[in-house]
Amino acid sequence: MNLLLMGLPGAGKGTQAERISEKYNIPHISTGDMFRSAINEGTELGKKAKSFMDQGALVPDEVTIGIVKERLSKDDCERGFLLDGFPRTIAQAEALQTLLTEMNQAIDHVLHVKVPEEKLVERLSGRRICPACGKAYHVMYNPPEKEGICDRDGRELIQRDDDKPETVKNRLAINIEQSQPLLDFYDERGYLVTVNGDQDIDKVFQDIQSIIEK
Ligand code: ADP
Ligand code: AMP
Repeated sequence: MNLLLMGLPGAGKGTQAERISEKYNIPHISTGDMFRSAINEGTELGKKAKSFMDQGALVPDEVTIGIVKERLSKDDCERGFLLDGFPRTIAQAEALQTLLTEMNQAIDHVLHVKVPEEKLVERLSGRRICPACGKAYHVMYNPPEKEGICDRDGRELIQRDDDKPETVKNRLAINIEQSQPLLDFYDERGYLVTVNGDQDIDKVFQDIQSIIEK
C-alpha cells in the first residue's frame, strides 16, 4: 500500500502518520524528519537544508527528490510506504511519478488532511517535539503524560525553530501557495481524498482507516 499524506503545516500529518504506519506496518517517510535528523547529525545534507528551513522556505527540489529516491529504494519500502510532506511542488510530484513507474509501483491514495487555515497557527505554536524520536505533542490538544517530557523516551520536549512566530507565517504562506496546484495534480489523476482534519485525533484516524479499508 502506497500512501501520500498532504496538508498544510500543522494539519496533523505526522500525528496521523504515526498511527497509519503502526496499524498497516508501512514505513513513515517524512522529508521534514529526514532534514531535521540530518541537521542534528551535522551532515552535508543538514547544512544544505538548514538555511531554507530556518526561513520557512522549501528545500530545493533536486536535494529533496534525491533523498526520497534513496529512501524509497530501501528494502522496507517493498511492502509499501507512507510519504508525509512530500511532494510539495509539481516538480517533486512529477519526479515521484517517474520513480514509481521505474519501481513498477503506483499510488493507492493521496490523503489530504484539511484544516481551516486560521487554526494552523495555534496548532503550530503549541506543538512540541521530542528531539530524540521526533514524536509531536501539543501543549493543549495532545499533551504528554508528564508536562514537557516525551512519553516514549523521557526526553525533554523542545519547540521546533520553524514553529516560532517569526517563521510560522512565512511557512504557511509559502505552503498555501504551493498546495493547490499539487492537490489539482492528484485530483486530476483520481487519487485525491479529502479528510476532515478539524476533529479529534482519533476521529481523523477513524476516517482515514475507512478510506484505506473501503
Ligand atoms: P504536520 O505534520 O501536518 O505539520 P503535526 O502532526 O505535527 O502536523 O500536528 C501539528 C500540531 O497539532 C501538533 O502539536 C499536534 O499534536 C497537534 N494536532 C495534530 N492533530 C490534531 C487534531 N486533530 N486536533 C488538535 N491538535 C492536533
Ligand atoms: P515539515 O516537517 O514537513 O513541516 O517540514 C519542515 C521543513 O522541511 C519545511 O518547511 C521545508 O523547509 C523542509 N521540507 C520538508 N519537506 C519538503 C519538501 N518536500 N520539499 C521542500 N522542502 C521540504
